[in-house]
Amino acid sequence: MTHIISIVSGKGGVGKSTTVANLGVALAEFNKDVTLIDANFFTPNLSLHFGTPPSAPTIHQVMRGESNIEEATQVHSTGAKIIPASLSLLELKRVRPRRIFKVVKKISGDFVLLDTQAGIGDDVKEAIKASDSVIVVTNLEWPAITDALKIILICKEEGVRVRGVVLNRVRRDRIEPGMRNVQSLLESEILGIIPEDSHVRKSIAMKDPVVVSYPNSDAAVAYKALAARLVGINYKAPHVFARKMRELLRKLNAK
Ligand code: ADP
Ligand code: MG
Repeated sequence: MTHIISIVSGKGGVGKSTTVANLGVALAEFNKDVTLIDANFFTPNLSLHFGTPPSAPTIHQVMRGESNIEEATQVHSTGAKIIPASLSLLELKRVRPRRIFKVVKKISGDFVLLDTQAGIGDDVKEAIKASDSVIVVTNLEWPAITDALKIILICKEEGVRVRGVVLNRVRRDRIEPGMRNVQSLLESEILGIIPEDSHVRKSIAMKDPVVVSYPNSDAAVAYKALAARLVGINYKAPHVFARKMRELLRKLNAK
């Protein structure tokens, strides 16, 4: 069975694309067949995390029937497959978001991850409807958390399962709202805690996800732990940070 998962957030800039890229390559490193689709048709940037060539066919062309999925698929060094979106302004308006459904259903493998746009517009709704579950990304700041709540309610309305929440750019300082409060407000399991880590920015500049470019960084280890959780692998990173996070997650999710 192929798990089709949209990565959503409500608020922009919280780390959806970073999560798609890193969760994707981490799943591939666990030998999973994974395809990453940039379903953010208006403000796409997944290709920038990988440095895929701008001239390659895109999801826009696939959705218009001008290209097939194989032609638009780029294969990363980890084996993760990426279907980028066009960065050209001219392409943006010429796509019907509803068509993502048909494209997604044609893809087999273990996982299909869809990167989505911020907001709660039609594009995001179509991505959600084409998925069998969603993962919500948020930062530990109220504007992001309240938007996460909105998108969770929309998923529930659409009858799509919310697998849980990924907390990204976590600093663990006094300013952040408590994770337990956030968890109970969102009524969702916390699947991962990804720290604020400057290696993420460096990896984006290097056009290779942090899991690959800085595999021992805190963010990389946290993404690998998230991937392991998704596939049910007992991942024991020899890493103080990872151990702390695992313990924190265990406590948070204990009933
Ligand atoms: P979204 O797709 O939700 O708009 P992005 O994944 O593009 O968000 O992330 C926005 C920016 O935040 C990235 O360009 C990156 O520089 C930064 N970022 C994301 N996650 C982290 C992190 N864990 N630590 C540090 N910076 C991060
Ligand atoms: Mg994005």
